[in-house]
Amino acid sequence: MTRAVLDVALDPKTAGRRALWTYADTGDAALGDAVLVPIGKRQALGFVVRRYAATEEQLGFRFDELKSILEVVTGIRIPEVLIDLAKFVAQTYLCSLPVALSPCIPPGVRDRLEGAWTLGEPAEGVSVVQQEVIRKLQEAGGELSDDEVRVLPEGITRAFKALRTSGNVRFVQRLAPFTERRQKEKLVRLCADEAAIERFLRTEGKRKPAQALTLMRLQAAGGPPLSPLEVRALAGVTETTVRALVQDGLLEWVKSDEVRLAVPPTPNLAQQLAVDAISEAISGRESSAFLLFGVTGSGKTEVYLRAAAQALALGRQVLYLVPEIALATQAISQMRSRFGRGVAVLHSELTQLERLRTWIRIANGEASVVLGPRSAIFAPLPNIGLIVMDEEHESAYKQEQSPRYHARTVARELARLHQCPIVLGSATPSLETFYEAEKGGVTLISLPSRAASAQMPTVQICDLAAGYRDGKPALLVPELASAISEALERKEQAILFLNRRAYAPFLMCRDCGYRTACPQCSVALSYHRGERKLRCHQCGHSVVVPSECPKCTSTRLNPFGLGTEKVEEGLRELFPAAQIGRLDRDIASRKGALEEVLSAFRAGDLDLLVGTQMVAKGLDFPNVTVVGVVAADISLSVPDFRSGERTFQLLSQVAGRAGRGSLPGRVFVQTFNPEHPAVVHAQGHDYVGFFEEAILERQSVGYPPFVRLVNILVTGPDREAVGKASGLVRDALPSGLTVLGPADCPLERLNNRWRRHLLLKLSLDADLAQVQAAVESVSVRGVSVVIDVDPVSLS
Ligand SMILES: [Zn+2]
Ligand SMILES: [Zn+2]
Repeated sequence: MTRAVLDVALDPKTAGRRALWTYADTGDAALGDAVLVPIGKRQALGFVVRRYAATEEQLGFRFDELKSILEVVTGIRIPEVLIDLAKFVAQTYLCSLPVALSPCIPPGVRDRLEGAWTLGEPAEGVSVVQQEVIRKLQEAGGELSDDEVRVLPEGITRAFKALRTSGNVRFVQRLAPFTERRQKEKLVRLCADEAAIERFLRTEGKRKPAQALTLMRLQAAGGPPLSPLEVRALAGVTETTVRALVQDGLLEWVKSDEVRLAVPPTPNLAQQLAVDAISEAISGRESSAFLLFGVTGSGKTEVYLRAAAQALALGRQVLYLVPEIALATQAISQMRSRFGRGVAVLHSELTQLERLRTWIRIANGEASVVLGPRSAIFAPLPNIGLIVMDEEHESAYKQEQSPRYHARTVARELARLHQCPIVLGSATPSLETFYEAEKGGVTLISLPSRAASAQMPTVQICDLAAGYRDGKPALLVPELASAISEALERKEQAILFLNRRAYAPFLMCRDCGYRTACPQCSVALSYHRGERKLRCHQCGHSVVVPSECPKCTSTRLNPFGLGTEKVEEGLRELFPAAQIGRLDRDIASRKGALEEVLSAFRAGDLDLLVGTQMVAKGLDFPNVTVVGVVAADISLSVPDFRSGERTFQLLSQVAGRAGRGSLPGRVFVQTFNPEHPAVVHAQGHDYVGFFEEAILERQSVGYPPFVRLVNILVTGPDREAVGKASGLVRDALPSGLTVLGPADCPLERLNNRWRRHLLLKLSLDADLAQVQAAVESVSVRGVSVVIDVDPVSLS
């Protein structure tokens, strides 16, 4: 015998990991409905995720223990397609359904629940007062909040209660409607007077760096109309900054109600062919995937926009994913100017209430385009016609906390559920995607670079080993040093990149070989000369620099290796007349410092800028003509099978920073590995050449896309327990799998927790449920075991 039941997912944060409860299905609640359910003596808010018939065996308890839901909450429902998506996430990334569903749940619903009275069965033979009540409800559109009813005269409230008893009126829980009319959000944009902006950036901007940086960011995006909140989110500034810019006339309110819609530029032949192919898939409701492959300036965005227009013309919506919202200013700007106010941007400055409001607006189909970071894939769009995923290779698309999903995989599934195409865009696609394109699973569309707007800078590889052979190792090779001197003479600027902050990665004792190490992590303590501190870049632990070796009391503790601080010092010696600035996380942690450095560099007060990758992200410096990578080997030496791919992406991106203005750019890459494929092919701007070498290597050693990786991470404060648990996991795994380890993680201790891992190389169609069952069978006190499917980081 079976009984109709429903599964309700509760918030895993408050209800624990297994927050899935089963109730009797009385027919009141539909899939996706928000419901109040009894949990012991408490009640909780949950969402119906499954309706089915079950036997007592399947339930694991008797039917008479089955409880019913208390109430259906009206006014909010998770679309069925998102429940299907959450089930996919749970299955693919081996987490529970409530955990997988958590990013789909509208924020702050619980706080906006209220009681309300609604019309029930048609009433006959009721009293005059009761008729009055029914008329009142009808006039109010069928619903009155309890707050509104409670203030009515006592006779009337009594009539409400009587009608509830007779079933003519119902009392429900609902999401309080947003009654205050949402003010049409006013928009601002960069003023049209470019000379005034330039003047500000060159003079006043230095004293008002936050304002200057805001202008620079908007300028790089083409001065789009944005809401003041969006400006704050994109530029990372406060309301005061935005207001001051408006007061000075540098930002102006967009006057009329409608944002003037831009006339789209005429596409070139390659763009038109791309648009045609994607449009055909949109109208044919094909869930096909496209890889739009082209460098910056090849016109990928125009293809996205035109394809988006196709989807909108068919009455469907567009989901536009970006790795980082602050770098998407240009995309937002173009979407706005093409599609007007129907563009919803999911950004960090939205309050919880504003988030909920946006959620409902999206669910009601009022937002035609939703643009956001990876979590935007869980926006409740009712009928998606096109999914765009820009910079598809970026690791920001992987979520590193539970649910540990990769947005690219989930977005492909979302496209399948909505029967719509997905367009993945990149200048340096992930090896996985490009391989799939070669095999035909993804349609490759190449956009040739447009000669006018994308002059590729020349890239020169400089062998650092040569200097060591000659016994004269220098911070900069002679070619790079003289290129900088020449640029300085011409009053041009240069940027130097080094992906390591601090002065040196560690101190070492000359006498006994002792190295500074973090007491909590298995990494060295970096030497920060300016603040005279040793810092752990993993956990933040810091100590004052010791005056003598803690082991042998020698005073000969010397810095080893290279960090941005030391590069800055070296540059001061090489170019004593130049003004030099540094930008890394140490500098940026001081409030306002990032803005100061960038605005001074833009104003020309600084000639040289040294920094980590964060330098110049999403900004244009028209006067920069020399870009140098001080040591490409830092990213090559990371113990990860993707380090070559990441280095290629990094070098390609850095190379793109030179020659953004009208001046031609030169790029220098210093390395001990001048023959490394990532270096050689980055020099030639040759992605395909890099791909062909790298993919062979992946195949020969068995890494993605040829296998499916699952990383099982075992951590805990007690080293022995962690070792034991990792061994138990190994024993529990089914035989016949390729398992590497258990072994210590490259980062074997972090924040006083020991870390070991097992790396599984599975066939692409392997059944992961066995892996999950094996992991769940292991339980060692104080040890946590985490499964990371398709990991992007193995450290
Ligand atoms: Zn010593
Ligand atoms: Zn540490």
